[in-house]
Amino acid sequence: MIDWNDEQRQLRRAAQRLGESLSAGHLERDGRAEFSRDGWKLVQRSGLLALPFDHRWGGLGQDLLTTMYVLEGLGHACRDSGLSFSLTTHVVSTGIPLQHFGSPELQERFMPAVCAGDLIGAHAISEPEAGSDMLALRTSARVDGDELVLNGSKAFVTNGPVADVVVVYARTDPAGGPFGISAILVERDREGLGFGRPVEKMGLRTSPLCEVFLDDCRVPTDNVIGGLGSGFLVFDHVMNWEVLCSFAVNVGEMQHRLERVVEYARSRKQFGSHIGSFQAVAHRIVDMRIAVDTARRALYDAAARVVRNEQATEDVAIAKLLVSEGNMATAVAAVETFGGYGYMTESGLEHDVRCALAGLIYSGTSDIQRNRIAKMMGLHGAAPGC
Ligand SMILES: Cc1cc2nc3c(=O)[nH]c(=O)nc-3n(C[C@H](O)[C@H](O)[C@H](O)COP(=O)(O)OP(=O)(O)OC[C@H]3O[C@@H](n4cnc5c(N)ncnc54)[C@H](O)[C@@H]3O)c2cc1C
Repeated sequence: MIDWNDEQRQLRRAAQRLGESLSAGHLERDGRAEFSRDGWKLVQRSGLLALPFDHRWGGLGQDLLTTMYVLEGLGHACRDSGLSFSLTTHVVSTGIPLQHFGSPELQERFMPAVCAGDLIGAHAISEPEAGSDMLALRTSARVDGDELVLNGSKAFVTNGPVADVVVVYARTDPAGGPFGISAILVERDREGLGFGRPVEKMGLRTSPLCEVFLDDCRVPTDNVIGGLGSGFLVFDHVMNWEVLCSFAVNVGEMQHRLERVVEYARSRKQFGSHIGSFQAVAHRIVDMRIAVDTARRALYDAAARVVRNEQATEDVAIAKLLVSEGNMATAVAAVETFGGYGYMTESGLEHDVRCALAGLIYSGTSDIQRNRIAKMMGLHGAAPGC
């Protein structure tokens, strides 16, 4: 594994302290499906949102691997998985595409506020008829002089209800296939941009989500990130960051769950013995340990390939599967190990099951990840939607 230096460890400890303060009252907020504005202010003050961004905009200039390591620390300490999801979505949806593909003018206008968290970011890719099949998106952006006119509707926009800026993926060339899509930054107060009511959901309830509507919404062509037609390229880059960063948080959550279960199995007694002394329970915990270690290794290995600019499609897909499915399996195993107490809301463990399930769906479902791997294995017929 990577030998982290003192600065990296210090950043991680700071993220852990932040995570501890964000956890207070999270189950109550989960019940009310409430995004914590106070929590967001703490996140802003911590500087966490600035981690991977350039110093000239107030960023901390850290690389991808360090960002993941710090976010893993956050996941270890923070029980408010929804807030963690909202903050990683903010970073990867807006700052990452702006930093990598944005024009100097667009960067100047938005990066300082994105780094500071003064503007909350979101991205609108999915549509009612285009989920896994992203290329089927129908939202259009017609060029009219030096403006774009956007029309369409978007589904499942994380942070939508609280977002100040939304990166909308729209078709600028109906006949252009993957090269006919553009990523367009739309500010909340643009006329013609509408937001649905927050949608109730199973888990990650403290991370608000809604539909977004575009009705003759006009934005300057200068708001295109990466130029007309490069939306799919932007999307691909953003998805790598989304998988590597939001699932690094999950690895931290899995590690915390493992430690909690080991402690419980060493203290809870039945039949006169600690339950951890029963082979069935011990083996279940060993499987949790294997899931965490394997997921972590795969995720950082995939990230290292991305950093080296190597072909990483397969590695990122495998890592996403190992973390998301491992997160789900360990969340269920923790409830089982705590027995009836685990099933009770106050344990926080049933909350983890509800949150973990979302990871099998967002950033490309498990089926789509397996399709990608099948395609890389030369099993083309079995792999649409990659
Ligand atoms: C918590 C959460 C947050 C989200 N946040 C965002 C966001 O911020 N922005 C955004 O744009 N979207 C967001 N999404 C949407 C997410 O990206 C989509 O839900 C996802 O891409 C799947 O699309 P879908 O829901 O339309 O399912 P569908 O694509 O309709 O899939 C339904 C089922 O069919 C399977 N399937 C589909 N095609 C294939 C195939 N070719 N081969 C095998 N199986 C297939 C799927 O795996 C799934 O099981 C979020 C979703 C969730 C749950």
